[in-house]
Amino acid sequence: MILPEKTRRPAITGGIFADSDFDASGRKIPQYVLEIRTMKRVKAKVALVSYSPKPQQLLAAAAKLCYAADTDGLFGQDVVSSGKFVKMLCRLGHLSPLEHVTFTFHIEGVSRAMTHQLVRHRLASYSQRSQRYVNHAEFEYVMPPQLKGKTVKVRGHKIDAGEYFAETMTMIAERYQKINEALGNTGESSNEDARYVLPNACETKIIMTMNARELLHFLEERLCFRAQWEIREVANKILDLVRPILPGVFSGSGPKCVRLKRCPEGKLTCGKYAEVKARYAEFNKTKRLSADLPALPTIGREQAGFAD
Ligand SMILES: Cc1cc2nc3c(=O)[nH]c(=O)nc-3n(C[C@H](O)[C@H](O)[C@H](O)COP(=O)(O)OP(=O)(O)OC[C@H]3O[C@@H](n4cnc5c(N)ncnc54)[C@H](O)[C@@H]3O)c2cc1C
Repeated sequence: MILPEKTRRPAITGGIFADSDFDASGRKIPQYVLEIRTMKRVKAKVALVSYSPKPQQLLAAAAKLCYAADTDGLFGQDVVSSGKFVKMLCRLGHLSPLEHVTFTFHIEGVSRAMTHQLVRHRLASYSQRSQRYVNHAEFEYVMPPQLKGKTVKVRGHKIDAGEYFAETMTMIAERYQKINEALGNTGESSNEDARYVLPNACETKIIMTMNARELLHFLEERLCFRAQWEIREVANKILDLVRPILPGVFSGSGPKCVRLKRCPEGKLTCGKYAEVKARYAEFNKTKRLSADLPALPTIGREQAGFAD
């Protein structure tokens, strides 16, 4: 039986399945492939949802306490002198006070491939959307932008790689649904097995809390051009968010070559040290390291001592 037009997915010209009952090689398309909707493609969003109050003063107080005989007024230092003191601490590599300040981010529109890399950073706390508790029949996905303009060959046909990728996501969603049904569609207990067919591209949401010291390390590792594009994109968004809040720590932050003043990657170097250095040079209030960022949180700008 052919399904009514409105229940059939939109045609994808030249795709592995045309919007007819037959595929490119003349084989009949299973009916269920015709039933599915177009899956939604998403991009990374990073929001800073919370951080330690007065972080710069807190760091300065924690460091000064180590040497202070008199602790009166320890927490009442002004932002400018705290900032200078914190900058000096970082230059000296006296980093343990940075562990008192934490940042919490809500990261969404990212792939499971990205979060698999993210959670390798052990000195952080994570809460991630579950593929057991949440049914993923309508999962969204991340598509590598590098596919733009590329083609794949399928049974003698040249197909746009992006369309091919999108169709693959749609097929997986359909299969996930069918497998979930075969398992009884019981929620958690069927989701947990049906999820085995979900792709690395599957969208996920994660809340991450990291202290400032680990964040510095994370940024050094993941802003490096050798890191994968998606986690690098997330790291750039994170740096844009934390720089104005804690400039004493993050104003000179970047991939590790920026601190080392050389690339430690040997033969694997990206060969772009000068470009990287310029990009991550001293913090400039108007410069954004990543595009389409949300406005900076007002409270952060005030705490950091910015007048506007
Ligand atoms: C470009 C790139 C490519 C990568 N490729 C691979 C790959 O092919 N395969 C792979 O498995 N991983 C890969 N990784 C992940 C990498 O190996 C680390 O697991 C990840 O970057 C987390 O960083 P980290 O180990 O410094 O630990 P974090 O958890 O961020 O810890 C921070 C620091 O704390 C200290 N620390 C934490 N835990 C311990 C501990 N148990 N014992 C002693 N010290 C500790 C270390 O000094 C560590 O550097 C890659 C990472 C990058 C950036």
